[in-house]
Formats: sequence, structure tokens, C-alpha cells
Amino acid sequence: MKTWSETAEIQPLASRIITKSINKERISHAYLLQGERGTGKEAIAILLAKTLFCTNASDVEPCQECNACRRIDSGNHPDVHWIEPDGQSIRKEQIEHLQKEFYYSGLETDQKVYVVKGADTLTTNASNRILKFLEEPSRKTTAILLTENSSSIIPTIRSRCQTIDLKPLNPQAFQQQLIDHGVFRSTAVLLSTLTSNLDEAISWSEDEWFAQARKLMIQLVETFSTHRNDAFLFIHQQWMPHFKERSQQEQGLDLLLLAFKDILYYHIGKEDDMTVFAKDDSKIDNLVMFFSQEKLLDILNKLLDAKRKLKQNVHPTLVMEQLTIQIQG
Ligand SMILES: [Zn+2]
Repeated sequence: MKTWSETAEIQPLASRIITKSINKERISHAYLLQGERGTGKEAIAILLAKTLFCTNASDVEPCQECNACRRIDSGNHPDVHWIEPDGQSIRKEQIEHLQKEFYYSGLETDQKVYVVKGADTLTTNASNRILKFLEEPSRKTTAILLTENSSSIIPTIRSRCQTIDLKPLNPQAFQQQLIDHGVFRSTAVLLSTLTSNLDEAISWSEDEWFAQARKLMIQLVETFSTHRNDAFLFIHQQWMPHFKERSQQEQGLDLLLLAFKDILYYHIGKEDDMTVFAKDDSKIDNLVMFFSQEKLLDILNKLLDAKRKLKQNVHPTLVMEQLTIQIQG
């Protein structure tokens, strides 16, 4: 989505609202872009910034080539600032730093843009700090807040932003895009449930790490069914060494969720919706008999619980050990 006309195809509402406000020279002081991963939040923020700074725009479309456009693309335009979570959250100090920079920086123009990624992770103090900023739009400053979940943003911030809901992506169209890029159908189906970002999905499809992760996920599910007592060992010897980072751990749990959901769907005859085990995969026949529907629902709950614990910073090894014991039980 490099241009507004491209954006209009994928996110028509967002494109219409923003280009209209540009044409009328009535840009909001603050936008809140809400949409799941891959819906184009960052691309729209970049495009809006370019539109505001481009020195050679035709109508609303930035030229993509002038100094300003190129600097925004490479992330080092002095008047376009990006804030993203430092670990789990955006801290007050990050907002203060931004405000200081705005205050002291040698101004190229008096126009400023700041983009807040993961705006739902603002701490209470950071929220209050940013609120002051939004309340006194003394300069030509445009805030662009990005979030997957605006309900976690305090209402006083939300009420000062123009909220734009981005359209969720259509998974079938997304799968087809992946297949067109040479990804196997079964992998495309699986990837479409894990991400809606095309580049990310393609890179995962070519990634050794991801292929191995998928293998381990199936092995673990099999261990839980046929060699339940070996699961603990498997977690320590195979799982943990592969899923090292916290984000990888989360991905591992997502894969397990999909696998157990498949087994449940197979139980209740919703085989068309299966993502990990294709319908003709004989593996699933063998797996189904080891888990009752009740047990599967319980496992899915425990997996969601494990994801929550990871988010709360519980140690990943502990999370997986607890999960293993719960599934074994
Ligand atoms: Zn330009």
C-alpha cells in the first residue's frame, strides 16, 4: 500500500477518510488506526506522513522520490518520530523524550508527525503524558496511534482521536496470494491463521526454523497421545531449545492451539476447517482416539491460559512444564 489509490483497494474506508481530510486541509490532530496484524496500519501511517511532508505531491499522492519521501521510507525523517513498545510496554520516559525532542529539535518545518505503534501498551503514566500532548496541539502536530485492540486504550485518549477501523483481511484471498507466490496449499492455510502479513508469511514459508517448529508441534501432539510420560522430556530436550525467544514461544503455543483445534474439529465433523492436518492426513485418525471432546476443550483452555501467562512474563520453561502436567493429567 504505497499510494492512496492502492490503499483504496484494500482499506477503502481509511483511504477515503484520510484523503478527504487532506483535500479539505482538515487533518486531524490524532488518528487511531485499529486493525489486526497485516491490515496495513504502518503502511497507512507512512503514507500519511509522506503526504504531509512530500515536496512534490500531485493531488494527495506523495511523489515517493523527493528527499522527504525517501527519508520517511528509510525511517530517518527528522520530523517523523516512531515510538514502539520497549519490551512489553511504552513507558512514560519514551513519551517525555519525544516531547523534549519536539521542543528542542531544529525544525525543518513546523509540521511534526509521531506514530505510536502498539498504542494499547502505553502504561498509565505514559497515557497521561501523551494525553497532555493531545490536549494542547500547539503546533502542526499529527499523532498516529496504531493498535490491534483500541479497547485497552484509555477513553480520554480515544475520545481525542479520530478512530479508523481497518478491515480484516479475507483469509481465502490471503491463502490464494500465498499460493500464487509458490507456497504449498497446506502451508498457506496454516500460515493464514498465524499472520495476515504477506511478506511475513512468505518468509516463514521459506524458513527452516518455522518448518522445524511445525514438525516439533506435531511430534509433541503425538507424544501427548501415545507416549504421554515422555512429554516432559520432550519439552526439555526438543521444544525449549527450539523455541528460544518469547515470541517464538508464543508462536509454538499458537501452533499447538491450531493442532488441537483440528483434532476437536475432526471429532465434531468440521473437517473442512482443519488447518494443520489436511483432511487426508492419516496422522489425525490415529490422534483422535486419544482425546475426548471434553479433554480437547480443556486442553484448548489450558493453552490459552499458557499464552496469557507468557504475556504476564511468567518464565517460559515454567509455563510449558505446567502446561505439560495439565495435558498429561
Ligand atoms: Zn515526495
